[in-house]
Parts: sequence; structure tokens; C-alpha cells
Amino acid sequence: MHSSALYHYLVSVGSPSEPGDDVRFFAACISHKAALRTGSLGSALGLDPAGLRQLLSRFFPEFMAGLDGRACLRTGLHARAQQNFLCECAGGAKIPEAHRPDEWQDLYSLLMASAAAPSGEVAPLMAAVLAQACLGQNHLWQDLGLPGREDLTAALARHFPALCTRNRDNMKWKKFFYRELCSLAEVRVCQAPSCQECTDHHLCFGPEEGDAWNSLAALRSARP
Ligand code: SF4
Repeated sequence: MHSSALYHYLVSVGSPSEPGDDVRFFAACISHKAALRTGSLGSALGLDPAGLRQLLSRFFPEFMAGLDGRACLRTGLHARAQQNFLCECAGGAKIPEAHRPDEWQDLYSLLMASAAAPSGEVAPLMAAVLAQACLGQNHLWQDLGLPGREDLTAALARHFPALCTRNRDNMKWKKFFYRELCSLAEVRVCQAPSCQECTDHHLCFGPEEGDAWNSLAALRSARP
């Protein structure tokens, strides 16, 4: 599968000076979105062109080395991973389907408010990617292209520990983020007086199960 080959390539050129967990996190997110045939890779990841280059230069400098500054990063990535790839965007910078800037900004701000100090440049990059994936239709870990929910929880614990800790009841991540936004805005959307009495309890809690989109799930069990 395309995204798996891209993932393996990116991991193989991951910067040795960055933590392996972060290299794998971003390799999964980038390869998941780079497998799409249309749209801008940066937009799909919630990053502007400068942000995308910053992310790739920091975590995958070998990939960026020698790349034409005007080259399409998505096609360049497929070429480096020796994948046949027919892009269908015809040079057009399409806006991704999930383009809701106000919502994205609220989610980004929520994450950054709990960024681990000093946050440096990794937390803003990760917050942007997470906020964009929140606008998707599936479990957050699936919309990110991660092997499983545990990988998402671990990334949140590393970079947004305060927010991660607040989800002490282990609510589904997207539901939790939006409930946090409602609390900040002092808006109550829940009909029930408490989660325990709520008929929608199963929608907010319980396992976030599902298939990994890009066959990466097997990697976790193989990991030491
Ligand atoms: S379980 Fe019900 S009350 Fe609790 S957050 Fe979900 S919708 Fe609101």
C-alpha cells in the first residue's frame, strides 16, 4: 500500500536527533495524507507551505536535502520512496474538504494552551496536524493515519500533558476536545445532567476501535 511504503521511507530517513516516537508520529501522519491524489499536502496536514517545510526539514532532513525548492513535496516523497504515483491535482492548490478555519483555530489554541513547556517548535506543528485531523469524520487516530489510539494518547501525553491528564475518564479524544471547547465558551450542549445518566454515553466513551488505514497497526506489535 502506498502510505506504508511512504511511512517506511520517512522512518528510514528520520532525524536521529529527534525522539523516535515523534519521528514515527509525523511519518504516519505525512504518509497517510501523501497517499491522497489531490489537494495540497500541507493543507491536508493543517500546515501552510512554510510549516510543512519546517516539519519535513526538522524530522526528515535527508528527504529535504537536494529537493528543488519549487518541487511538489507530495510527488517528491513518492519518488524518493520509489512509488509510482499519478497526482490528479494538475498543479492546483485545492482547499481540503475539511476546511473550517475558525474551528481549526479553536482546536489549535486549546492544544497550545496545554503545550509542554518549553514547547519549542514541535508542539505548534503537532497541534496544527491534530487540529486539522479533528475535522475529519473518523476516530482521531484514524484521521491522523496512526497505527492505533495508543499512539495518539502517547503523543498527547508527551506534548500536551495538561490536556491529556484532564481526560481522566478516557473520553474519546475528539469528543473530549469539543467538550473542552464548550466548557471554555461556557456553552452547555449536553442534555443530561451527568455523563453517567446520559443516553449518549456510548458515543462519548468506550473504545475507539477500528482499522488502521495504512496497514501500520502490525508495526506496533513488532516494535520492541
Ligand atoms: S456522555 Fe452525555 S453528558 Fe457526557 S459529554 Fe457525552 S453527551 Fe455530554
